Amino acid sequence: LPDTSVEGVTRYGLFIGNRQIAPVDGEYLDVADPATGRVWAQVPNASTKDVDAAVDSARRAFEEGDWPGYRAADRAKFLIRFGEAIADHADEIARLQVGENGKLIREMAGQARLMPEYFNYYAGLAQMPTGTTNPLHVQQMINYTVREPLGVVAAITPWNSPLLLLVWKLGPALAAGNTVIAKPSEVTPVSAIRFAELAAEAGLPPGVFNVVTGLGSPSGTALTGHPGVDKIAFTGSTATGQAIASQAGKTLKRVSLELGGKSPNIVFSDADLTSAINGLVAGIFGAGGQTCMAGSRILVEDGIYEQVVEELARRAEAIKVGDPRDPASEMGAVACRPQFDKVLSYVEVAKADGARLVAGGTVAEVEGLPGGLFVRPTVFADVTNDMRIAQEEVFGPIASLIRFHDEDEAVRIANDTQFGLAAGVWTGNVQRAHRVAGRLRAGTVWINNYRKTSYATPFGGYKQSGLGRENGADALREYTEEKSVWVDT
Ligand code: NAD
Repeated sequence: LPDTSVEGVTRYGLFIGNRQIAPVDGEYLDVADPATGRVWAQVPNASTKDVDAAVDSARRAFEEGDWPGYRAADRAKFLIRFGEAIADHADEIARLQVGENGKLIREMAGQARLMPEYFNYYAGLAQMPTGTTNPLHVQQMINYTVREPLGVVAAITPWNSPLLLLVWKLGPALAAGNTVIAKPSEVTPVSAIRFAELAAEAGLPPGVFNVVTGLGSPSGTALTGHPGVDKIAFTGSTATGQAIASQAGKTLKRVSLELGGKSPNIVFSDADLTSAINGLVAGIFGAGGQTCMAGSRILVEDGIYEQVVEELARRAEAIKVGDPRDPASEMGAVACRPQFDKVLSYVEVAKADGARLVAGGTVAEVEGLPGGLFVRPTVFADVTNDMRIAQEEVFGPIASLIRFHDEDEAVRIANDTQFGLAAGVWTGNVQRAHRVAGRLRAGTVWINNYRKTSYATPFGGYKQSGLGRENGADALREYTEEKSVWVDT
């Protein structure tokens, strides 16, 4: 492996113990380019037997291997080397991801350039003190705590930012001394295999980072039910997150969940309208709306409502939907056929519920790419917050504009959702900005900006948008157990 069984189609293996291996049952899945429809790779649909092999490899690396016993400084050196390997192959891994999820090369290349920064950050944190010494109510005793790695971490990820969302897990998991099994989305599996190869080339011992590819069931469920897995770090839909949390409950695995959103992007009439409109456009049409933090509910104050509707419709119509590999394109393809059908079905749902279509709403024709999954940037006005288009995550380029009268109503509408991932506030009034940020039930609030994330800032959801936080210094805690040690002096 890889071996080419059909012309032009590369067959990949599971990545276990630092090499590619064929699946036991010999079952493979096709990987298609969403911009062309062409199948260009095949990956294993891992069975429970394959998952057993991966868990066995990761467990042995954890229990018998060197990795958890490495000096923190050596783990840090590895993370930095892995980051350097990624930087050296940034173009290749950006292109691989574009071939999987149809997003703009510009976006995937930008993410690839950021990845080493995440590893540098966790390399630094790996060497920070982690425990405490504790003042006691009893004499002659010393008590201290140590933070120890959890063991084997299963990192299950979606297709929208395949490798960046894996890096969010790998950085703290490896820095803390865990071993990892990644289960990438069946839509975007090849980039993860290549990533693991780069980690091995950068010197990671066998078994520390493995990749099993395959469908949610059997491959994902085999991991989440496996007694040899200590933690599930999951990013994906709320429905899958709920299923995983229930299943993980049976063995009390540690779980962190980064789930869906229906984030409000709120524009007050005292905002700088030019920046606000730019932020609304980037919030919902950036990444083609295929991002958990999409500002999909746009809440606009009465006085500027019609002006914003008109301007957003104009901007949406002007977006150049095109070949994701063409640097001039401003929006790429939808990642896979089921998602494409889902996005288009929500256009009909919104219309039937009485929303007013003011831009897009149909398939986009892209010259030279007749087989591509392209949708026009779409704007609905006169949406009310009880409509399905305002309550359900579409995960595509559909903006819903909702009118509000005053600050209280804006906050009420913004919070009237099962989700709580993120929110934007556009206003020129500094008191209002902080007041509203404080009242929003969301894990991230952007004031006069949107869609910013960093390795240094915690990211995660309130309510049904998730459990736990990724990034930032505290993310390491999510990959460790705390042990309390008592010493009689
Ligand atoms: P998904 O939930 O369908 O799949 C995510 C991953 O889970 C895939 O690898 C899939 O194979 C696996 N999976 C599916 N069923 C499983 C099961 N029963 N047990 C174990 N694993 C299973 O999500 P998707 O369609 O790939 O991605 C889109 C979703 O991800 C959106 O809802 C989006 O909001 C969310 N997302 C969230 C964040 C965040 O940080 N909060 C970031 C990106 C995407």
